[in-house]
Amino acid sequence: MSERARLHVVGAGVAGLAAALAGMRAGAEVHLHEAAPQAGGRCRTVSPKGGDEGGFTHDNGTHALLGANPRALALLESIGARGGWIEPEPDGLPVYDAATRRLGRVGLHPLAWLKPDLRPDGLGFADLPRLARLVAPLPDTPIGALFAGRAIAESFVEPLTVAVLNTPIEIASARRLGRAMRRVLRPGGARLYVAERGLGPDLVAPALDALARGGARIATGSRLRALDGRDGRASGLVMADRTIPLGAGDAVILALPPAEIARLFSGIAVPDAYEPIVNAHFRVAGPARPRFVGLRHALSHWALARADHVSVTVSAAGSSVADDPEALSARIWDEVAPALREAGVAIGEPGEHRVVKEKRATIRQAAGFETPRPRLPFANLRLAGDWLTPLPATIEAAVISGEDAARDLLRGLRPPARASARAGRAAADMRGSAP
Ligand SMILES: Cc1cc2nc3c(=O)[nH]c(=O)nc-3n(C[C@H](O)[C@H](O)[C@H](O)COP(=O)(O)OP(=O)(O)OC[C@H]3O[C@@H](n4cnc5c(N)ncnc54)[C@H](O)[C@@H]3O)c2cc1C
Repeated sequence: MSERARLHVVGAGVAGLAAALAGMRAGAEVHLHEAAPQAGGRCRTVSPKGGDEGGFTHDNGTHALLGANPRALALLESIGARGGWIEPEPDGLPVYDAATRRLGRVGLHPLAWLKPDLRPDGLGFADLPRLARLVAPLPDTPIGALFAGRAIAESFVEPLTVAVLNTPIEIASARRLGRAMRRVLRPGGARLYVAERGLGPDLVAPALDALARGGARIATGSRLRALDGRDGRASGLVMADRTIPLGAGDAVILALPPAEIARLFSGIAVPDAYEPIVNAHFRVAGPARPRFVGLRHALSHWALARADHVSVTVSAAGSSVADDPEALSARIWDEVAPALREAGVAIGEPGEHRVVKEKRATIRQAAGFETPRPRLPFANLRLAGDWLTPLPATIEAAVISGEDAARDLLRGLRPPARASARAGRAAADMRGSAP
């Protein structure tokens, strides 16, 4: 048996990184295995060959956090990366209407709507009970049915729904969005943050650095093919090139998407419906500090302008995900360029561009969908991933699932003195590097 509890985390997306960090702080010897050549999962930075030498590097897709995501923000704080997440639009979100070519601003917190110029278009008294119903913990219903025929459905509720749930409003779950909205109503909950430089430098790299400082072993290009089991416990990790034997005190967290869990354990019940997101990235000179603009009456939902590129998000993109990438990027740029210019963002003409289609961007979060609780065959095994909490499938959910899985597995294990001291030193290092 190992001197310290040994924790193997498989999958180095946000859930796996959070699990590994929590395991390290609990005193475990952490081994992180990632199939891809780089960590980050859906939060990876896309950096094709030449990226380090000035090639066109960008996030897989734009990711925003809200003040309503305390566990994600706390994780960033703990790895010294919180300062890299800034509010691009503290005075209300600029929203460009492609039909009228008019730019307005919308407050994300209902109290902001006391100012008429931050109110969603079409908001009327008849919407207030509907909005109250949305945030109330009542039986589930499709969000579209709650706002049928209301102008605010198009101007506010639909963009909010696809941004948070990545699921068409006609089927999206009011209960799941309501859980998120109750958090948004808390003080500071409606603040919108983006990574100033990108998900690589502002999330994934600091997490990997913190893990390395704490002594975690990180292997990329390391794919789990199967799990061996004996006497109700996982006894071996069958990797592509070898089998890693597991000792009596060893534990495993699979921080993997549902389809991988279904492949590893036949017959296990996991979600099998997904929704895509299309992202278009344009290499173009932009503002020194990031800006964030929403669009209405357009295919594009959001544009994030950074110093050297603009990234555009089309959520719940079922109707466009199969389209020709060149046609998509031309259409998206034609929509986004006037929106950014109207919002006062100076941009040049785009050079290189790239369309990233995430066909399984998130699980489909439809009304009536219940958070799965897969029955696992091994006592020393837990799952993590954004699909495993009742919250929307986002970074916050991924962090919660990873940290909770590690705490649950390692609960009661007292780290030996040497491990405690090392974890303590790592925590001190992290505090030292915090902004
Ligand atoms: C385009 C896009 C935009 C998004 N926007 C937002 C946003 O604005 N805000 C927000 O909060 N969330 C957003 N999300 C959701 C967010 O990205 C996810 O919730 C989060 O990244 C999920 O992390 P995860 O660790 O659960 O899963 P993943 O990131 O999918 O990580 C799973 C990891 O497991 C690895 N893996 C798979 N199989 C194996 C195997 N057999 N062996 C070893 N490793 C394996 C994968 O390579 C991957 O690295 C967005 C998602 C996308 C795609």
